[in-house]
Amino acid sequence: MFDLSGMVADHRLDVYTTLKAGGCAELFYSARTRNELANSAIQAQENGITQTILGWGSNVLPSDKGVAGLVTLNQAANIRCDQSGFVEVDSGAGFQDLFLRTAQAGLGGFEFAVGIPGTVGGALVSNAGAYRNNVSAFLTEIEVVENGNREWRSPEFMKFEYRDSVLRQLDAPQIVLLAVRFQLESRNRKEIYDDARDYQRQRIGKQPPSASCGSFFKNVVDQDLAQQIEGLSDGMRAAGVIPAGFLIEQCGLKGTRFGGAMIGARHANFLLNVRGATASDIRRLAEHAASQVNDRFGVQLEEEALYLGDWSQWQTTGHLSHS
Ligand SMILES: Cc1cc2nc3c(=O)[nH]c(=O)nc-3n(C[C@H](O)[C@H](O)[C@H](O)COP(=O)(O)OP(=O)(O)OC[C@H]3O[C@@H](n4cnc5c(N)ncnc54)[C@H](O)[C@@H]3O)c2cc1C
Repeated sequence: MFDLSGMVADHRLDVYTTLKAGGCAELFYSARTRNELANSAIQAQENGITQTILGWGSNVLPSDKGVAGLVTLNQAANIRCDQSGFVEVDSGAGFQDLFLRTAQAGLGGFEFAVGIPGTVGGALVSNAGAYRNNVSAFLTEIEVVENGNREWRSPEFMKFEYRDSVLRQLDAPQIVLLAVRFQLESRNRKEIYDDARDYQRQRIGKQPPSASCGSFFKNVVDQDLAQQIEGLSDGMRAAGVIPAGFLIEQCGLKGTRFGGAMIGARHANFLLNVRGATASDIRRLAEHAASQVNDRFGVQLEEEALYLGDWSQWQTTGHLSHS
């Protein structure tokens, strides 16, 4: 019999997302420790109940129609590290807290995490990163629940790619990440904080303050297109990378609105909830941007944000406007 103490039905999810949009969880449970998270996963898997883990909700857009099954909010947040560079962290710990704790211990590696909201678990699912670094680089082991079993596994099963892993696939296996082990290198503390401060400064200049989930689309890696396109920086051209925001901006879409959603006027890859947007408003704007970019450049943008729940009837009506 499926029963978690403190579990509730029809619980609002918008408050747990940085986009502040979306419907309700059919069942909602808050796990405060690694054992509680593991227990919820074992019970859900043994009873055939679909489970969605929510970290800080900084990379998701739940449907207005809600999310079926069990949504577990992951608040397990222990971090342990020692001078040898060994780090063990619960998957619900903040990615930035992980940076702070390891920096205090004189361990380098996570300087790039400053300014990336979210949990370590969420970071692993999308192989989060910035400034040519990503979270999977220092990983040695992951504790998971799969098929009702709790075990430590080597990271290969995650199939990490640029902002991608097996857990982002449409038919992703039901695997819950409980905890992670990293191996870091000792580094001079001043150098760690100097680099982190530099990254933070670059971020402040680019990131709009309104509700968002960061970059909505992944950057495009296409050597041929990068050589053809005008206005791209030399660095990007050499790397064969075209920022999704650059393509959206070239389509003249900065500031475009639908309902309460808007394409960032400062950074076109940020979709903002500026006035009580529904999840459908935001998706409508995202699909408009993707189709305009496809029409003009022949490139299909791929979402970095993840749509959660039932989107089968999300189509909206109404007019796009430009501010
Ligand atoms: C202002 C802003 C700036 C950002 N900048 C960056 C950036 O520079 N680089 C970058 O990579 N990202 C960036 N992001 C996106 C986001 O912060 C990261 O992807 C982050 O790592 C997501 O973590 P989360 O805990 O919020 O995950 P959530 O959004 O809660 O979840 C994301 C996905 O992971 C799954 N998941 C979460 N935890 C687990 C778990 N324990 N087990 C199994 N599945 C799990 C969820 O079900 C969901 O599918 C930014 C977001 C914002 C709002």
